[in-house]
Amino acid sequence: MVWDPVLRYVAKWEPGRCVMEQKAYILVVEDEQKIRTALRDFLEFHGFGVAEAVDGLEAERAVAKGKFDLILLDLMLPKVSGEQLCRKWRQDGLQSPVIMLTAKGQEKEKVAGLDLGADDYITKPFSLEELLARINAVLRRTDPARAVGQNFKFADLNVDIAALKVKRKNKEIEITRREAQIIQYFAANPNRVISREELYKEVWDETMTDLGTRTMDMHIAKLRSKIERNVAEPQIIKTVRGAGYKYENE
Ligand code: CA
Repeated sequence: MVWDPVLRYVAKWEPGRCVMEQKAYILVVEDEQKIRTALRDFLEFHGFGVAEAVDGLEAERAVAKGKFDLILLDLMLPKVSGEQLCRKWRQDGLQSPVIMLTAKGQEKEKVAGLDLGADDYITKPFSLEELLARINAVLRRTDPARAVGQNFKFADLNVDIAALKVKRKNKEIEITRREAQIIQYFAANPNRVISREELYKEVWDETMTDLGTRTMDMHIAKLRSKIERNVAEPQIIKTVRGAGYKYENE
């Protein structure tokens, strides 16, 4: 398996063929060599591209040079702490999601970390499977396009994001760019209640306002009128009373 940081894909050789897979590029910032190496091996095994930084300064340099889809950031680091880094990156407008690695008993720092703009945190010692689940959840949330791709099934529809079309059997339905983003977000986050605040923040990239609420409701209504069989009883994008919306995918 070889990761190409320029083309951002992983080449894997299966019997008789070479498979290209687009995977996320992750920066592991961790001063403890054992943990760092274990993380690299594990993430590479799961097909991610991995870069390492051993302290805060190296992490700063790596982020200034490369574009990462996710950063695993140890809180206790020599030179520049994880906290300082996260704060600085967010002030600089860095978009890459950050998962903080914290030690037991650092609950206070953990909360501060989320305030500083971390997307999630995990407490050491953690199981690698748990970490993988967190990473995938954060990637789905922050980059639904990567999670589902350009062509995917959404309930009984076939979605073509590039063409802005969904197809039910032979019936083609045109969708707007915004509707495509909404569909992508639900498809990437199935079987989970998505609050209206979350949907608005992730799709519109803005904090919820009254006007935002109305804008979103209008878009959902319009989208439902295009894709639901019965708009009065939506079965694809369901309403969860008082909580938000949910797309169920068995
Ligand atoms: Ca540390």
